[in-house]
Amino acid sequence: MALVIDSRIKDLNPWVEEFRKYLPDQEVLTWPTDDVEHIDVAVTWYHHRELFTSLPNLKMIASLGAGVDHIVEDASIPDDVYVTRVIHESISWSMSNYCIAAILYHQRRFDKYLLDKQNVVWDQQHPPERDISVGIVGFGVLGQDLGRKLRQLDFEVHGLSMTKKEIDGISTYTFDQMGDFLQRVNVIVGLLPMTPQTKDFFKKDFFDQVTQGSFFINVGRGAQQVDEDILSALNSGQLSGAFLDVFPREPLPGDSGLWGHPRVMITPHIACITKIDIAVPQIVENYNRIGRGEIPLHLADVSRGY
Ligand code: NDP
Repeated sequence: MALVIDSRIKDLNPWVEEFRKYLPDQEVLTWPTDDVEHIDVAVTWYHHRELFTSLPNLKMIASLGAGVDHIVEDASIPDDVYVTRVIHESISWSMSNYCIAAILYHQRRFDKYLLDKQNVVWDQQHPPERDISVGIVGFGVLGQDLGRKLRQLDFEVHGLSMTKKEIDGISTYTFDQMGDFLQRVNVIVGLLPMTPQTKDFFKKDFFDQVTQGSFFINVGRGAQQVDEDILSALNSGQLSGAFLDVFPREPLPGDSGLWGHPRVMITPHIACITKIDIAVPQIVENYNRIGRGEIPLHLADVSRGY
């Protein structure tokens, strides 16, 4: 039995070191390797395209993070292979903290006071809080953690997903109830997985339907948003502001109109970064499960794409 790690974009050395700590008697390889026959498990983050078809005995593909879009977009995944992702309370903790910070930045008018400070303006607004109702688009593991924490802070919360959820104190909607959902919220948090259906999800048609003056936060994936349509919605007043962690092109190009827009906050895809010491033990547990012929934990559904 052996495990191979592959990424086109990540420095794999610390990952290899950590895997070897947990699997001292096993082969921990990096791609490319000639030793393909023994490999049961591939651990990937934006892998080389030939990887899956080069491994004749592959049984599991493990994402190094929460998303599996970089795996399932490759049509060469063999049918009978498990795809797993990392789910951990520390990921939800980071993501929920980021989103709560973005929501409070708007709710406590810090966006306005940041501009006032630049212009040396002392202008107390009453009441000090904006009246908000938060809508979470993509109500899965991360969305639900955020929803529960917002409820504990006494915010009104609505969650939208493909299938109906039941969570105390939160109004939930399915995809076909989008119009109803958008009428009830004025802060929108994008927490969707990247699939063919969610590409360009946050575009003109979407912003035309939101409550006028809504605040938009996106922490899902950049290809889900159309930057020009966000700018148009800001300039027409459909959106009052945007807080963005992801972009269709990353790094965000220097000539993007988002950089200079006074009502846009930008962070460089840092809402939540998977920690090696969290991800590796989970993947090792699944590697051992494969060795015992058991089903791994935290499976993604390849047919749904997430
Ligand atoms: P989950 O798979 O647990 O949840 C995804 C949710 O989206 C589910 O509720 C699903 O519905 C819903 N959904 C899927 N497609 C649609 C659609 N077309 N319309 C409406 N709802 C839809 O994922 P997580 O919560 O763990 O993570 C979400 C995403 O966050 C990840 O895929 C990743 O891309 C991103 N992410 C970003 C990070 C960052 O640093 N910016 C860090 C970590 C993750 P249903 O429940 O019915 O299936």
